[in-house]
Amino acid sequence: MTATTHNVDADEIEKFEKLASRWWDPNSEFKPLHDINPLRLDYIDRLAPLKDRKVIDIGCGGGLLTEGMAKRGAQVIGIDMGKAPLTIARLHQHESGLDIDYRQITAEQMAATESGSFDTVTCLEMLEHVPDPAAVIAACAQLIKDDGRVFLSTINRNPKAYLFAVVGAEYLLRLLPKGTHDYNKFIRPSEMEKWARAAGLHMTDLTGMSYNPLTREYKLGSDVSVNYLACFRKT
Ligand code: SAH
Repeated sequence: MTATTHNVDADEIEKFEKLASRWWDPNSEFKPLHDINPLRLDYIDRLAPLKDRKVIDIGCGGGLLTEGMAKRGAQVIGIDMGKAPLTIARLHQHESGLDIDYRQITAEQMAATESGSFDTVTCLEMLEHVPDPAAVIAACAQLIKDDGRVFLSTINRNPKAYLFAVVGAEYLLRLLPKGTHDYNKFIRPSEMEKWARAAGLHMTDLTGMSYNPLTREYKLGSDVSVNYLACFRKT
């Protein structure tokens, strides 16, 4: 049985704890995150320039995106509920010579004390691992300043997404360990938008991130059928 406290699924955290030591190995289970990292950094930096901005990265893991944003001049806090990923993130930032504040805390707990504090909130590839994603989105909305931006990314829920993100990635190409993703927790853009609207946000951009299994490359574009990124601001 899965223990759930504070909107955290212990089984989900455990998956990432086990793999954490390989987080920065670009040929490990984290290869897909390494591959998409430059694309999503460019996306965020284009829609909400990172230099000198106050940013919080929710579900930061080993810090791939977190470090990327710090390198582009943002002042970043990285939060995650996994202990091992945070240990890796803290070790790696010393190697990189960056100054990132990593904390083991939930988005909801952060929102209770630091509401309205951030120019940008990022929560990428995490919502599909959380019991109540709408509550995380509400916390993201609380964390931004009035003119701030929230960036979310996840996996769409439809037969093609099942084929690519579960069958393809976990069974055929073996990019990810089996069981990494639970199809039922995938989120349609319409659902994400509905939860964001309930939290006082509206979507200003929706962009697809598609994987070509032949070239083994990702690209951004209009195809949101599998992976997608979205940007929100306060209504
Ligand atoms: N955002 C990072 C890592 C994605 S992996 C990236 O895209 O590169 C998902 C991460 O979410 C893991 O590190 C896991 O520990 C974390 N996580 C899962 N549920 C969480 C929760 N409720 N609160 C905070 N972090 C969570």
